[in-house]
Amino acid sequence: MKKIVSAKVIMVSWDKEPLFHKALLVEDGKVAALGEREVLVSQHPEAEVFDFPEGLILPGLANTHTHASMTIFRGLADDLPLMTWLEKYIFPVEKHLRREWVYWGAKLAIAEMLRSGVTVFADMYLFEPEVIRAVEEAGIRAALGEGLFDFPSPGYGPLEKGLALTEELLRQYEGHPRINILVCPHATYTCSPETLKKAKEIADRFGALVHIHLSETKEEVSLIKARYGRRPPAHLDELGLLDDRLLVAHAVQLVDEEIELFARKGVRVAHCPESNLKLGSGVAPVVALLEAGVTTAIGTDGPASNNDLDLLTELRTAALVQKGLSFDPTRLPAKTVFRMATELGAEALDFKGCGRLEPGWCADLAVVDLGRPHLTPLHDPLSLLVYSARGGDVEAVMVDGNWIMRGGRVLTFDEEEARLQVQRIGEEIRSMLRK
Ligand SMILES: [Zn+2]
Repeated sequence: MKKIVSAKVIMVSWDKEPLFHKALLVEDGKVAALGEREVLVSQHPEAEVFDFPEGLILPGLANTHTHASMTIFRGLADDLPLMTWLEKYIFPVEKHLRREWVYWGAKLAIAEMLRSGVTVFADMYLFEPEVIRAVEEAGIRAALGEGLFDFPSPGYGPLEKGLALTEELLRQYEGHPRINILVCPHATYTCSPETLKKAKEIADRFGALVHIHLSETKEEVSLIKARYGRRPPAHLDELGLLDDRLLVAHAVQLVDEEIELFARKGVRVAHCPESNLKLGSGVAPVVALLEAGVTTAIGTDGPASNNDLDLLTELRTAALVQKGLSFDPTRLPAKTVFRMATELGAEALDFKGCGRLEPGWCADLAVVDLGRPHLTPLHDPLSLLVYSARGGDVEAVMVDGNWIMRGGRVLTFDEEEARLQVQRIGEEIRSMLRK
């Protein structure tokens, strides 16, 4: 079914001037044409027409690193160092993690992400088939993988089973239009060299991406140096993982040679500024990474360390923190941040052909409602989007040519049900920690 979508503003891509009072023709999951609404309507009288007179259409945003189901841990424990937070709160509860918790947590996360214009996200967690089920029901696009580590997992038991599950998912979803399966060794401090090599062997056999946390904190760098005599990037390089099929989350603690190494090897980076700030990990050298030519995108990380999945405010943070640290307001301008969240984000997750709204590109888009006090007046759409908009300003989302949210309502699943389920799960988690 053809669709014509008109709006006050269309942000075609990060490097094109915005269009005013124009429309998009959507056909077979792709943008088929851009032009005058009346012309498109007369050429395609059979198309359904959707008008957003106060709307700003943008290419759907990519959240390139999260653990969606961790919505269930939001606000459980804050203001702690990463290792304390993980070892005292997250790991003990995750030992008793239940399949249905992961499912409902993911559903709530998807609702939250849609409300900030996210149309594609990368996820690494436990019981990942439950996240995949939530993604399929929601109709959103995603790259997903079961988190792998040496100790037994509540999701799959011993590591061997986790590797087998990963292979099974890779086979099951091969060629899926909206789902890419990732191979996700958790980190170099939770995975032995053997585990990392096994993960890479599976990924290569299927042409899949490896996704890992890397160089997040100073402690991690010291630990890996003490254990293996090398810094984390060199360690991965030695094991054969550092190549153009690797997506690393964080990359905060990098030295200049490592930035060059990433560029030379084609490593992709998911920059998670708010999580890094909240956990006191530091700030990734994003400007240097981009200047070196590294595909650098943006992620929220899990909602237990952020504490939200609002990619719009994450864009603002990404830009502001670079300016503040460098005493230079020209650094990481809005246009670059918008590029990171759209085209580079889709590219980082292997969804080539998404992230722009030109003919032939994916019909993945979000509509921001400009009829709000903090989005008025309309001097510069890009400025409003990066520096003023926030989650909740999005009134409609289309993925692969289908509306999955419209009129401020998620259409593909019951958002309120997910909210109530996560409320109940939160109570179960608190009673578990009291014991
Ligand atoms: Zn993470």
